[in-house]
Amino acid sequence: MRTRCMPLVKAAFEDLLSRLGTDYIDLGMIHFVDEAAEFERIMSGEYIDYVRGLKKDGVIRHIGLSTHNPAVAKMAALSGEIEMILFSINPAFDLLPPTEDINQYFADEYDEALGGIAPEREELYRICEHLEVGITVMKGYAGGRLFDARTSPFGVALTPVQCLHYALTRPAVASVMAGYDTPEHVLMAVAYENASAEEKDYASVLARAPHHAYSSGQCTYCGHCAPCPAGIDIAMVNKLYDLASMHREVPAAVRAHYRQLSANAADCTECRGCESRCPFHVPVVERMKLADNLL
Ligand code: SF4
Ligand code: SF4
Repeated sequence: MRTRCMPLVKAAFEDLLSRLGTDYIDLGMIHFVDEAAEFERIMSGEYIDYVRGLKKDGVIRHIGLSTHNPAVAKMAALSGEIEMILFSINPAFDLLPPTEDINQYFADEYDEALGGIAPEREELYRICEHLEVGITVMKGYAGGRLFDARTSPFGVALTPVQCLHYALTRPAVASVMAGYDTPEHVLMAVAYENASAEEKDYASVLARAPHHAYSSGQCTYCGHCAPCPAGIDIAMVNKLYDLASMHREVPAAVRAHYRQLSANAADCTECRGCESRCPFHVPVVERMKLADNLL
């Protein structure tokens, strides 16, 4: 049951501590906030007062929030109080615009006009990376619909390893909470640890899918264009460039990260090998020049 009724919330939290046999938890989660109005009520009333009190007393060490709605996740990231967001990320949900109705994410069919990662989601990931708000991923398999070509909106099946790699290559994502029903499901997720680059590769699968939905030229940070003979981590440079270009001034942390790379955009020899390998037709050489100028 989901409730914001304080007597019930307090009783449930105390019950949680008691069941876990602890007097503190590292991350206190405000769960399932999909409506902007509810987020505002939580952050301006007795609910957040209670959470702040728990943090002040050391009963919770950090404050987190879970949501399926990128608009609410953005509000949380900008709040200055939410330090971690549990957010639903997979290649299908990433196409969808913000909504307060979770059922729309599990619709039987998606609008065929959808193209590429929704800008609200890209913005969210960049804001979280910039503000150092960590994202832990839920619904990484879209409830299993991505494992079957008949239910995948791309008309092609993905593997658990490919879905995990997709989530882990979004900016700000620190971890994925993989769901499972059976021991086999656990093994399929743990296989990520020893998976080869080919097994992780979601890019060529999505780009060849019958219902290909990604915009041409949009970098998904998949890494499919590697190896670069100049040693450039092209996916990382593209990610840092995208993070930097959303600000009027390049954030110091982004520039510092860029300058720590063993090779960067200035090392590009314009061989264009990466461009021939990129399934999303990203103009890498042009982006390397832009990144070199900006960073
Ligand atoms: S340039 Fe293309 S292949 Fe390389 S990381 Fe971006 S989308 Fe993937
Ligand atoms: S064009 Fe530049 S970034 Fe791409 S593989 Fe060649 S050297 Fe590397």
